[in-house]
Amino acid sequence: MTETSESPKKVKAGEKVGPGKYVCIDCGREIHIDEVDKDLAKCPSCACEIYNCFPMTHMRPDIKTPEDAKHPPERKK
Ligand SMILES: [Zn+2]
Repeated sequence: MTETSESPKKVKAGEKVGPGKYVCIDCGREIHIDEVDKDLAKCPSCACEIYNCFPMTHMRPDIKTPEDAKHPPERKK
């Protein structure tokens, strides 16, 4: 089995997945989730339940949690 660190994690509908982008492995439909406790729903296009997971990676370095992303801490001078 060859598993690289670049291959996206797979997640299943019904899980609490956290903020990020989720791409249906079947039809490629993208689902964006920006809430912490939102359940991932089945794909609206094909009802597939498996998604490739692309967590948010463009956060500022001083933002470590999804809560911080919603309420960014003020930058220190
Ligand atoms: Zn789909």
